Amino acid sequence: INTPLPGLESTAANPPARLLQVALPRPLPALFDYDASGLPAVEPGQRVRVPFGRSELWGIAWGWRDGSDLDPSRIRPLVGCDDSQPPLPGNWRALVEFVADYYQQPIGEVAAMAAPPAISATRAERAHRRFRATAAGHAAAPSLPARDVGRKLIAALDAAGELNEAELRALSSRAGPALERLLAEGWVELALPQAPAETAHTLTADQAAALEALQADSGFAASLLHGVTGSGKTEVYLRLIEDQIAAGRQSLLLVPEIALTPQLHARVAARFPRASLHVMHSEMSDGARAMAWAAAQSGEADILLGTRLAVFAPLPRLGCIVLDEEHDPSFRQTEGVRYSARDVAIWRARHENVPIVLGSATPSLESLRHAIDGRYRWLRLNARAGEAKLPEVHLVDTRVFRATDGFSQPMVRAIESRLARGEQTLLFINRRGYAPVLSCPACGWAAGCTQCTANLVLHAADRRLRCHHCGAEGPVPHACPKCGNQDIQGYGRGTQRLEETLASRFPQARLLRIDRDSVRGREHWQEQLDRIRRGEVDLVVGTQLLAKGHDFPGITLVGVIGADASLHAADFRAQERLFAQLMQVGGRAGRGDSAGEVLIQTAQPEHPLFAALKAHDFDGFARSQLEERALLGLPPHGFQLMLSADAPELQPALDFLEAARRAAQALQVEGVQVYDVVPMRMVRRANRERAQLVVESRSRPQLRALLRPWIANLYRLRLARGLRWHVDVDPVEV
Ligand code: ADP
Ligand code: ZN
Ligand code: ZN
Repeated sequence: INTPLPGLESTAANPPARLLQVALPRPLPALFDYDASGLPAVEPGQRVRVPFGRSELWGIAWGWRDGSDLDPSRIRPLVGCDDSQPPLPGNWRALVEFVADYYQQPIGEVAAMAAPPAISATRAERAHRRFRATAAGHAAAPSLPARDVGRKLIAALDAAGELNEAELRALSSRAGPALERLLAEGWVELALPQAPAETAHTLTADQAAALEALQADSGFAASLLHGVTGSGKTEVYLRLIEDQIAAGRQSLLLVPEIALTPQLHARVAARFPRASLHVMHSEMSDGARAMAWAAAQSGEADILLGTRLAVFAPLPRLGCIVLDEEHDPSFRQTEGVRYSARDVAIWRARHENVPIVLGSATPSLESLRHAIDGRYRWLRLNARAGEAKLPEVHLVDTRVFRATDGFSQPMVRAIESRLARGEQTLLFINRRGYAPVLSCPACGWAAGCTQCTANLVLHAADRRLRCHHCGAEGPVPHACPKCGNQDIQGYGRGTQRLEETLASRFPQARLLRIDRDSVRGREHWQEQLDRIRRGEVDLVVGTQLLAKGHDFPGITLVGVIGADASLHAADFRAQERLFAQLMQVGGRAGRGDSAGEVLIQTAQPEHPLFAALKAHDFDGFARSQLEERALLGLPPHGFQLMLSADAPELQPALDFLEAARRAAQALQVEGVQVYDVVPMRMVRRANRERAQLVVESRSRPQLRALLRPWIANLYRLRLARGLRWHVDVDPVEV
């Protein structure tokens, strides 16, 4: 790989005096050696430009070396380095090394993913300035062209009250010049810190006890803050952050999906109006992310609020890490570099010797087991804060009360009574689109994706068929392409169909549908949440998007449709997820003054999952799941690796995995079970055929004893054309 270009060979027989290891974004488990003698100022942590084969690449300088295994004549000199950004600190490199080793991902790819966007952040020092729209701005906005960026910024400022420069830049790539213009016109002004809009509550006894325990921490300690939705976990986080700010330390607050939880952002901003709060998530522009990164790394930011990638942001004054909704699968990255931000955050807290708090109403069984075994401090908030009570959960047996168009009689009556009282109802169904299958009753044809082993989903509003796996789409045929029958139909139910049924049954009700198709952009999302909260809608149909940490005081009924599908899913985590989802979505009900009700339609009311849900018995449910997992040696009572391969055809993927299986067996590590190579359940995705191989052990050290030498061997296997493989340590879906 390090082949020198003609004329550039070093003539020295000895290696160069300054031998630098560089992390390059290549799928290889190694650092690369370069000669840095020509660039005396270069330091580890800096971005450097290197020759690579016949081209050049940017990489990150990792560290100095005494000697290289390479022939000195093959060590090529650096081309240049980028000193517009400060070098990434040693802690950051240690974190990347941990991820590369623990998850066995190529170090250069981990580094490239975990590094800030490569753009200058000279504006960073101004990023914390906050802006608001002036009266003149309000007056002028409607007369601006609809697509004018300035108009968009004013609208966003109206919705949020104030925003900082990074947040404005996240709205448009042309926000910078537009902001200058708005300031010059006097339509926008700097917002000076205001008195806190949110004041601290008097803590409940549970909150006070949890906080006291957490405040006693100095140095690393992991705590699980386990409290039902609405029990006041966020209040505890805010108190901790307050301590950190007072002590001059930085806080890292990690959430699964920030764009969907603007309330938390607003709450943190309102509580700490004088603090420097920065936000980081993957939907921001590179510029905005670079600014947040710079504020974090320089120590300017007091609070960094972000999604999983923020776990890598350097924080020189880091005082504590809070990770909310720790059970949420979004913390796990399943494409590209495979890692769990939750587990990386734990490692980071230990490495930087700071406390970490994981919060959830429905902890993952992994974290729960750590709590049971005493590795995590287990803090409970047992009751809802304030006046709100937990909702009552009722089941509707659909074998007795048949559903027509998705709704049983008891469900219809419950909705009617809410409408009569002027209360809101949320209908939860975890499937977007109109119908999951379009098929022909005459010949059995079903519309399938040509690129995936999956049915196309019927979207009625724009009459399209869409694949939810690869994004392929097409028109709805007028007749069955196989037999010509014109009477083809959508089967099953998605959010759009429920919406249609509700509209015809309750024509007087104001309806709103919320799913990934209805939510375009963050502003629009915020607007929809506000409409619910202001009581401008009576019935909300939504997917799990709605279950994530929102507070809708007017919703007194949550109806659950189509939950049974998850009871029979092949994934051993399906029940854990369903329980968490239903408990979370149920938590949306009755946060206001009126008690809430959750109504679940099911053909299996005797299923123990529902009994536990009715009793709000997370512990009982979790205990029975843990027992089952222990019996079967499944996580968290066992540990797994998954090796997957994909190629244009299935056979090469199977062959590669078969060779990998033999390589694993040849290592003869005890206590490790290597399963058979199998095609994945959804074998074709986006035109690639996929297969997998699972390796399991009840002992993590034994699994790790296999992992390193095994993966090293895999890099030596010859690969068929177009074949890709990935290893997934602690996979969340097998
Ligand atoms: P969680 O994060 O556990 O869902 P929150 O912290 O969001 O809970 O609290 C739920 C609601 O209760 C919020 O409206 C919050 O303002 C309120 N709240 C929190 N703690 C208290 C308290 N000690 N007394 C009264 N209200 C509280
Ligand atoms: Zn047909
Ligand atoms: Zn597809």
